[in-house]
Amino acid sequence: MKRIDMGAMMFIPTKLHELMVIEGFESVDELTEECMFDSLVPGICMTKGCSFTAEVEQDCHEGWCEVCDKGTVNSCAILLGVI
Ligand SMILES: [Zn+2]
Repeated sequence: MKRIDMGAMMFIPTKLHELMVIEGFESVDELTEECMFDSLVPGICMTKGCSFTAEVEQDCHEGWCEVCDKGTVNSCAILLGVI
């Protein structure tokens, strides 16, 4: 398990859904498939109310959010717990 703080943990389902919609996936399953086979995967900022997304490394858990100016971007693989 990578470091995701407890505050951010509770946003995971919301963030996954947001990421799915933003990236144009029809289901979380589709997103899961994408993030398991690519080395660069969609990631999203974990801050409440921020929807910054970026292509990140599969194991990215503190990617830079240009909106928050903090390392708060987690990859979808981290959010899904598949790596
Ligand atoms: Zn952000």
